[in-house]
Amino acid sequence: MSDCLFCRVVRGDVPSKKVYEDDFTFAFEDINPQGPTHVLVVPKKHIAGLKEAKAEDAELLGRCQLAAAEIARQRSIENGYRTVLNVGPGAGQSVFHMHVHLIGGRNLKWPPG
Ligand code: AMP
Ligand code: ZN
Repeated sequence: MSDCLFCRVVRGDVPSKKVYEDDFTFAFEDINPQGPTHVLVVPKKHIAGLKEAKAEDAELLGRCQLAAAEIARQRSIENGYRTVLNVGPGAGQSVFHMHVHLIGGRNLKWPPG
């Protein structure tokens, strides 16, 4: 997906503050942070969103969550953080390359808005 924003971030065509990278995932600081930590973890493979993910993507989904957990560990925010997948415009999804939000470093209310 040459014109996808987060594919371009992964390729380095759009600058980002990289936090973590492995063979399958890429993580970077959110441009509009909603907390002291707000990192986006994306699969390097283009998947539009959770509802477009296939059974074959199960490992990638898990890898994104585990990358978020590792970043949270490194940042010592394990007292409380949240990983969030916004699915569809009604839930606030605005970029259609699946991404896990890692938000932490502050108290988080439940339920989310
Ligand atoms: P969502 O609303 O769940 O689709 O999340 C999209 C997120 O991407 C938002 O939190 C935006 O602030 C963030 N975002 C959009 N463009 C960029 C960018 N170029 N670099 C980093 N984060 C971005
Ligand atoms: Zn993409």
